[in-house]
Amino acid sequence: MGIRFKLLLTFVLGFGLMALVSLNLLQGSLEASYQSIEKRELASHVSRLVQSIESELEHLNSLTRDWAVWSEMYRFVQQPDPAWAQDSLGPQALVTADLSLIMVYDRQGRLVHFNTNPRLNRPAGETPVWLEQQIKPYIALIKDGHAAPTCGLMKAEIGLMLGCWAHIRRSDASGEFSGSVVMGRLLDADLLAKLSKQTRLPFQLEAPAEAKPDMLVWPDFVAASLLGSGEVRSSESPGLYHLALPVQDLLKRDVAQLALSVPRDVHAQGLLVYQQVRRQLLWTALVMACLMAVAVHLLLVRRLRRFTRQLVTLAKTQTWKTRIKVSGADELSTLSGHVNHLLSLIETQVDSLQQLSLTDALTGLTNRRGFDERLALELSNKCRGERKLALLMLDVDHFKLYNDHYGHPAGDAALKLVAQVLQAALRRGGDMAARIGGEEFALLLPETDAEGAQEVVKRLRQHLQQLALPHAASPVAPILSLSVGIALAADESPAALMARADQALYQAKQDGRDRAVLAE
Ligand code: GH3
Ligand code: MG
Ligand code: MG
Repeated sequence: MGIRFKLLLTFVLGFGLMALVSLNLLQGSLEASYQSIEKRELASHVSRLVQSIESELEHLNSLTRDWAVWSEMYRFVQQPDPAWAQDSLGPQALVTADLSLIMVYDRQGRLVHFNTNPRLNRPAGETPVWLEQQIKPYIALIKDGHAAPTCGLMKAEIGLMLGCWAHIRRSDASGEFSGSVVMGRLLDADLLAKLSKQTRLPFQLEAPAEAKPDMLVWPDFVAASLLGSGEVRSSESPGLYHLALPVQDLLKRDVAQLALSVPRDVHAQGLLVYQQVRRQLLWTALVMACLMAVAVHLLLVRRLRRFTRQLVTLAKTQTWKTRIKVSGADELSTLSGHVNHLLSLIETQVDSLQQLSLTDALTGLTNRRGFDERLALELSNKCRGERKLALLMLDVDHFKLYNDHYGHPAGDAALKLVAQVLQAALRRGGDMAARIGGEEFALLLPETDAEGAQEVVKRLRQHLQQLALPHAASPVAPILSLSVGIALAADESPAALMARADQALYQAKQDGRDRAVLAE
């Protein structure tokens, strides 16, 4: 698995994990925040609903109080006048005032007037005061005294009713009260539809019910009112909150509940935002991972590959002079610096080994290998142009006898001196002296003809004579002497040239040694 793939995997896992953790945190905080927003909104809905019913009660209350301070009403309680009652408190008056019920009692609590709205469905065969019978417990409460609230809900068989009562007094409110008036307004479908329209809340009035186990009970969710304690029960279904607000009558009995389903708009909105953020976050993570992958490729992988390619080529070609090139100034360039340092060490070592492998240890001259390489090179150069090349093979005369006479160490010293003599005889930079065998030497003289070669041999003999190294055992001369075979290179192989020079050397030996012979 390559670095790129590993890093890409790490990035994807890292960014993916980061995205998941962020999303989880976001979801948690969003959930909490939109639940609290929703709860506030629900509370405002329920308050609006309660207020709308309360304001209906307030209207009824004002109406009841207004009618209770009519002078005619005051008189009517003391001296009932059926004609006035029919006219002012009769069915038509109730329809006009949108009342369902009116009852007038005298000071002793006796019913002096009762009437209902003709639009109410009066049950067949009921007594004329049928509705009073249905709301008797509330009437008892009203008659009972002042402690009772003057308005509230009353439950009758025909339905839930808003009810208010007031003492009948003089219009200036002076003196004792002469009786009481009770007014009722049925919470019928029309009124409920009106309230629903007013509040823009599609609520229903339902029979009272116990809280179900899956419901949350929020006590004091809205302010306590004439309608109840303000407790609300809630349950959820997908996309909806179901609320139930228990309502109480004047006797503080649970008589109904207002049921309301509210769409979870905030939740839906929050979900939408969350999904959007999730999408964006995941895209961002993906793009980031890709960017990182590209960056890693450019900054590391590509450069590492180039580095590796250079190393592979270097190992193949073994050109230790080459240096690794890396762009930028970072860890990779530091590494390349170290590698280059190693390369320069290798280069030095290889150079010196090469030098050693081509040099004769005793005399310091080029050895046989170096000589062969150079000869091949010179001959190939010669083939390409019309250059001249002279090869001289030299052999110390009776060197075995020298060794025998003076000892081997003296023989070594003599070979060193011969090497110096050879070097001294050379004038040109391109000339080369080599030790190609025990006491055998060779001179390679580029751009040299027979005359030039003879010239070199002459100088050589002069130097040898100057050196005058005694060779007491030699039958040829009293000093150390050399035999030389000269061959001028033709278009031939190194072996052929060597063979001809060797042949000339052999001839020089045959001819009595201490001389040079030029090969034909
Ligand atoms: P010729 O005149 O026919 O060349 O006779 P030669 O004795 O010189 O030739 P031969 O080939 O018989 O003997 C060469 C001698 O050179 C034998 C060997 O002991 C000696 N020799 C070769 N290499 C070295 C060396 O490195 N040091 C010493 N001291 N002697 C060497
Ligand atoms: Mg020899
Ligand atoms: Mg010899």
